[in-house]
Amino acid sequence: MDKQIPLKVVVGGAMYESAPKVYSREVSGRFQRLRLVAVWVLLGLYYLMPWLQWNGRQAVLFDLPARKFYVLGLSFWPQDFVYLALLLIIAAFALFFFTAIAGRLWCGYACPQTVWTEVFIAMERWCEGDRGRQMKLDAAPWSRAKFLRKGAKHTLWVVFALWTGFTFVGFFTPIRVLAGEVATLTLGGWEWFWILFYALATWGNAGFLREQVCTYMCPYARFQGAMFDRDTLVIAYDAERGEPRGARRKGTPSVLERAKSDPLPASPSLREGEEQNVLGDCIDCTICVQVCPTGIDIRNGLQYECIACGACIDACDGVMDRMGYPRGLVRYATLNTLEHRQPRMLRPRVVVYALILLALCAGFAWSVLTRTPLIVDVLRDRNALYRVLADGAVENVYTFKIVNKDQQPHRYRIRVHSATPLALVGADTIEVAAEGVASVPVALHATAGSVRGMLAIEFEVQALDAEMKRSQKSRFFGPP
Ligand code: SF4
Ligand code: SF4
Repeated sequence: MDKQIPLKVVVGGAMYESAPKVYSREVSGRFQRLRLVAVWVLLGLYYLMPWLQWNGRQAVLFDLPARKFYVLGLSFWPQDFVYLALLLIIAAFALFFFTAIAGRLWCGYACPQTVWTEVFIAMERWCEGDRGRQMKLDAAPWSRAKFLRKGAKHTLWVVFALWTGFTFVGFFTPIRVLAGEVATLTLGGWEWFWILFYALATWGNAGFLREQVCTYMCPYARFQGAMFDRDTLVIAYDAERGEPRGARRKGTPSVLERAKSDPLPASPSLREGEEQNVLGDCIDCTICVQVCPTGIDIRNGLQYECIACGACIDACDGVMDRMGYPRGLVRYATLNTLEHRQPRMLRPRVVVYALILLALCAGFAWSVLTRTPLIVDVLRDRNALYRVLADGAVENVYTFKIVNKDQQPHRYRIRVHSATPLALVGADTIEVAAEGVASVPVALHATAGSVRGMLAIEFEVQALDAEMKRSQKSRFFGPP
């Protein structure tokens, strides 16, 4: 019998509620200075790097059509994919390690979303003023002044976003050539597409989406909890010292001052009964909420929206200074220190991450520094195992593929090592152009009757003008 499945229809319910705009208040302090340094260094690297030259070539260039990556003096070929994989593994373990120690350092100081948003917010402040003015401007009806301010902001944003897109494409196409093509309006269709695509992404993410990228789109915010423990540094509000919060007259002594002149415990939360009306150090000014770029209240405890930017620490320290209270009501702390437990810096997971990271970094550095820019591939002739010549000698034929990844041409000598003497027939040296590939057939002869069945051999290819050598094992076959 058919069973009717009841349908529940929601009428008038919205599937999506747009998030209200976060107007973050300008803040100054040591963490804001640190963020500014990070912004300058990271953006400086991003915008200047493609313009640097190294040995007459762009220092960092990911040449996808040629399938070669150039990073400073090193060139990476598709065969070097292992280095890229190793780099990604190192990056992942570095993230685990630093997150286990100091929480979302990456989010607060180095994530591109944070860094570009910081610049876009600065431009917004230049054009529209600080938080209060921005709110007033947005609430005001359209006027000439509002149009000019908004127009100036969007002009700055668009120019900066286009420059970002242009620079991004400049990592994949030589940027000086790209600049010439932009100047002469001869840019190709794909280059236009990617420049505009990345410009649009920058404009949208840093100008409009901002904290919503971190809150709703970034997976890291969701799984970071798995890397935290009770000894991970997080940005925390000291509720024991701050509560009960409330406004008070300037000059009211802080909790710590009262504790010095009072034998009762310092924490107002411990003063049951007669001391209930004594306030903690939070004056409930909400400045820590106003400066938060994600619009949360850190006094409600650790939340996944918190990107650990430290703005609320700077804001609260400023308030504490003005009140004459000790700093650190909002600070970097661990759950254990907040609960007066012994902090543990060296935990098993931190030690394991550190050891793996050290081993990976050492392995990566060693393999990059000792890598030989020479690849040799030897293929046996697939058509015949061996040939017996008129004089009874046995011939095996091989094809050598020699890849010279160096930026200089080199001449290589081919030799063979085996238990039974074998003669290499034809030219035993070959010239390979800089970053070139040469394919050359090589024949080996064994005198009549000297090789029966299979003989293990080793080819050696050595540069005659540089310290480069590669060996490859192979086999020589004779009659049974
Ligand atoms: S800035 Fe400090 S004092 Fe002001 S509300 Fe935040 S925690 Fe309380
Ligand atoms: S709560 Fe503090 S540290 Fe976290 S995002 Fe807001 S301002 Fe930054």
